[in-house]
Amino acid sequence: MTKTRIRFLKCDPTKANSPMSKVCTFHSHPTNAAAAADIPSAGDVFQFLNFRHLRTITAGATRLWVWDKTKATLGTVKKLGDWAEANMLTEVRRLEKAFPCAWHDPYMKLALKQLGLDWPKSREDWEAHWEEMLRNVLRIKVRVYSREGALRPHWPCRRFGSVHQRRCRSRERLCRD
Ligand SMILES: [Zn+2]
Repeated sequence: MTKTRIRFLKCDPTKANSPMSKVCTFHSHPTNAAAAADIPSAGDVFQFLNFRHLRTITAGATRLWVWDKTKATLGTVKKLGDWAEANMLTEVRRLEKAFPCAWHDPYMKLALKQLGLDWPKSREDWEAHWEEMLRNVLRIKVRVYSREGALRPHWPCRRFGSVHQRRCRSRERLCRD
């Protein structure tokens, strides 16, 4: 990949709007966003289905995940499109009255609910189940990788030398010194 082939967009710490027409998008979550960095947001899921992306890659704090649309996902995309065509204006107007500056998130969760994904009340629930929910309910192809595993071999560690891998399992941060 070269600079000219990547469109770079600096976003908000909690918001990343991907260019809608791109086949593949990438965004990273701020690693200091602790608990929220390693889970997808409602916006991440909604945008992936709503826009033309075939693949989206997200880097969290310790994990990296890749989502692909397959033929099976297209059924979900169609369902979302049909629902939005019939309901978007009414629902956005209603939500704008209730949450004038924050209607996006409830709208996206409402739309996902029509697809069978009832957004869990607790973050722990979402963290534990998002992979299977995306696979089984939304029919998205999901792959999750450990960022730590992938990074470790590439970070030379002056501090721990040859015991680098073993020591770094719990103290990865030190390796970047
Ligand atoms: Zn995100």
